[in-house]
Amino acid sequence: MVSVNTIRGPIDSSELGRTLSHEHLTTGGAGMDRIPGLMDDSRKREMVDRSVAALARVRQSGIDTIIDLTPFDLGRQQWLFREVAARHDEHGVNIVCATGCYRWVPPYYWTWTEDEIADRFALEIEQGIDGDGPKAGIIKLAWDMEARLTEGRMPIRSVMEKVARAAARASKATGAPISCHTLATDELGTPLMEIFEAEGMDPRAVTIGHSNDTTDLDYLTSIAKRGANIGLDRFFSDDPEYVATRGGIALALAQAGYAEQVSLGHDAQPAGFWGRWNETERPHCWTLVPEVEVPWLRDHGASEADIDAMLVTSIRATFEAAAAQKA
Ligand SMILES: [Zn+2]
Repeated sequence: MVSVNTIRGPIDSSELGRTLSHEHLTTGGAGMDRIPGLMDDSRKREMVDRSVAALARVRQSGIDTIIDLTPFDLGRQQWLFREVAARHDEHGVNIVCATGCYRWVPPYYWTWTEDEIADRFALEIEQGIDGDGPKAGIIKLAWDMEARLTEGRMPIRSVMEKVARAAARASKATGAPISCHTLATDELGTPLMEIFEAEGMDPRAVTIGHSNDTTDLDYLTSIAKRGANIGLDRFFSDDPEYVATRGGIALALAQAGYAEQVSLGHDAQPAGFWGRWNETERPHCWTLVPEVEVPWLRDHGASEADIDAMLVTSIRATFEAAAAQKA
């Protein structure tokens, strides 16, 4: 059992319980709170209310913890965490917030060293996000199609690799795990794991996320064999064919003996600005996994032990492996 930072302070890893491994209260971009007319006081109140409503709703379906993987450059809002934490009695869900970096590496990282970037991540874990907010509990990385940009004077890919090495160093220094958004169809978990292994990280402290955007079980199994956790953390529909495809990946990995290296989530948000303000309230945005996917898994032969492994044990193990490697 190890200590895990949440937005209300540290808890024991045994208290994480049933956890959705990749979600967001809000997303957009760095500085979105300063765009005139976008987030006035009434909209901020609406963001808090919507977040609390979605948290209360998902608590009813048995979820204890949500990992919010929104670093500053994806629009993380420290005030939103504070307000949602202040209303904990209304929802009862633990929230782990993230440091790290999203897809478009901030330009100042281009000239910084790995250790300078790692120090920034570590400060958000040890002192607080933005310096004075709640302490981050996890390090987010996002490797998507930008990883294909390998040409030019300073290829984007080379900077992404540098930030990944920085994340590994921050993980080892602080004992916080890493969770990666990946473009699964480009099999980006493989080069990421190569970097983390070269940096001497325990692969069990890493989640390779958005992995249910592919059905290539050879690729997914290869990541599991390296020891990493597989984030099957995108789930957007209750369409039966969609549920069978996404649920089928989790079931196949469980049947191959990897349930303890599979975590579940939606990559959904109740109060987002992805593109523009989401006009529709989404109190049910985090209920598809507990109320649709998990019942589908049970109906198709997954055991209660498998379900427990995917919702409780897997993500907790990443925190415990990360803490054990702390220098
Ligand atoms: Zn996400």
